[in-house]
Amino acid sequence: MGNKIKLGVIGDPIDHSLSPLIHSQFGEELGINLEYMPYHVVDSELDNFIKNFFANGGFGLNVTLPHKLNCIRSADILSSEVELLGAANTLSKNSNNQIIASSTDGLGLIRDCSEKKIEITNKRVLILGAGGASQSIIPAIARMNPKMLMVDNRSIQKTEKLLEKFSSFELQPLQRNNEPIDLLINATSAALSGPFDWNIQQQLNEGTVFYDLNYGIASAKFFSWASQFSRKRFDGTGMLVAQAAFSFESWFDTFPNINNINLSSADD
Ligand code: NDP
Repeated sequence: MGNKIKLGVIGDPIDHSLSPLIHSQFGEELGINLEYMPYHVVDSELDNFIKNFFANGGFGLNVTLPHKLNCIRSADILSSEVELLGAANTLSKNSNNQIIASSTDGLGLIRDCSEKKIEITNKRVLILGAGGASQSIIPAIARMNPKMLMVDNRSIQKTEKLLEKFSSFELQPLQRNNEPIDLLINATSAALSGPFDWNIQQQLNEGTVFYDLNYGIASAKFFSWASQFSRKRFDGTGMLVAQAAFSFESWFDTFPNINNINLSSADD
């Protein structure tokens, strides 16, 4: 068999992560003998776990909730995107055994939009939500030169923090007027707690593209709300697979095929 390359994902909880399923398929497709494991790691063990993993031959880690912020404390080198975001989802090791933190969520979203022919450049884009997911995609969307990039969040204080943090990207608060939204991205977890609704109806129409960062059954309530306006609705599965592919590329210098991933053995 030879030695398997050790990869994994850390989170708390971790049971529902689809990353092992995705990365094992990337490995099979490219003939890379890898073992990708889910690791349940609590915050108090985070730094120890990361350092031991790499010291004991680990090759790469993905990082999911709630460790995306704190994992960067264990890294020696931060990518420029991580410096900007203050959060990472990928850890790797260089030839000097230094741990490098990078973030692939924004790249994943942009890649998926391009696969699905969802236009961003010169469009009016509204992101709902101001948590980690929203923040991780703002710079990448801004670099695509939208006509306007707006954010709206339930708690206004968080919107204001985001506007300040990303002021160099010309992020704006939601402009309530008659101008339709071209692309509406749901980066909230609102639908997990009840029916989805957002007071923005007058700016939505059949031309609006609805993109949910949630995926699978977690997208049902957002899709049901969006269906009163438009047929153009997408969930976050494509982004999930594409961000995984960018992590994989950071470890192996090869971008895997993202179109043949089978998630059907997963229940969410
Ligand atoms: P956070 O907990 O950091 O943020 C949650 C956001 O949802 C906040 O803006 C919060 O608003 C808002 N929210 C929660 N409940 C409600 C509600 N009832 N009504 C209105 N707003 C609400 O989560 P993340 O940003 O990390 O993740 C958000 C979603 O994106 C998750 O469901 C996650 O699964 C998904 N995701 C998908 C990815 C992919 O690859 N497809 C990648 C990363 C995340 P407030 O500030 O007011 O509390």
